[in-house]
Amino acid sequence: MLVVMQEDAPEAQVQAVIDRLVGMGFTVHRSTGVQHTVLGGVGPVDDFDPANFEVMAGVKECHRIVSPYKLASRHFKPAGTVVKIGGVEIGGNKVVTMAGPCSVETEEQIECAAQIVSNAGAQVIRGGAFKPRSSPYSFQGLGEDGLKIMRQAADRHGLLVVSEVMDRTQVPLLVDYADILQVGARNMQNFNLLRELGGIRKPVLLKRGISATIEEVLLSAEYILSGGNYEVILCERGIRTFETQTRNTFDVSAFPVLKRLTHLPVIGDPSHGTGKRDYVVPMARAAVAAGADGLIIEVHHDPDHAVSDGAQTLRPEQFTEMMRQVRAIAGAIGRTA
Ligand code: PEP
Ligand code: MN
Repeated sequence: MLVVMQEDAPEAQVQAVIDRLVGMGFTVHRSTGVQHTVLGGVGPVDDFDPANFEVMAGVKECHRIVSPYKLASRHFKPAGTVVKIGGVEIGGNKVVTMAGPCSVETEEQIECAAQIVSNAGAQVIRGGAFKPRSSPYSFQGLGEDGLKIMRQAADRHGLLVVSEVMDRTQVPLLVDYADILQVGARNMQNFNLLRELGGIRKPVLLKRGISATIEEVLLSAEYILSGGNYEVILCERGIRTFETQTRNTFDVSAFPVLKRLTHLPVIGDPSHGTGKRDYVVPMARAAVAAGADGLIIEVHHDPDHAVSDGAQTLRPEQFTEMMRQVRAIAGAIGRTA
């Protein structure tokens, strides 16, 4: 159930509603918007009448939430969530770019990547230290050494770090080194991991599963939000279809759909979304035109020798040109990049 408080409702009235919801067995999540406080009561409580809340002092309106996801619903935070990390805002007017190699390989490689990323005007460096690989014989990542390399290079260049967490046991390590914890497509429904991430207070980048519906992505986000971690960023990274010309089918329509259904920021990953370098820049443009709040892009100083995902990794000059084009697209729809 959602209770929208009146604009000027004093704290005592808000508290009275919270107490009543808790008394009925709801867990209460509070969203303090610019105008209204919204209280989201979640839990297995079916027997209630919203009208009983509507007559309480300070209450503007009250609704049953019909969607299976509650806290992720746009109704809970109509103005949208802006995830603020240092000076970077994800979900605001500016389109944010995260970029870097698929995997952390060496210190030199990440130093090159940090230079490319910061010179082109991006804000966040990406790079996996724990790699989910289809084959157990492929490179599995440098682990903590890789995270150290990422952190040091990011700090030298004034960048934030996003890196993947594959398992609950890795969460403390990622919290120490990264600014944003990435949940990969293969782990979108690793519910134990999602619950663990609900308990931390760092932003999570949740990638859409390889064959997940939009509703399933939102339910996965709900696991994190219901733990009290409200800083979730969603990522469209392509889904598996019958098409074979591309690695995945980049679902550009997911951006306007998600923007309608949820208040969470949504970014696009056209690298994994297409799997081929030549298609990445056009799909990056399309994502921004369709309303993406940001991009996550694979770039490497020498993609032909990258240890993973080289075929979809941009060359430095392609990335710089992509940033120029994305700025133009953002400008055309009243945003910056
Ligand atoms: C990645 O970002 O390198 C990655 C493995 O992505 P995904 O989980 O979308 O496949
Ligand atoms: Mn990759």
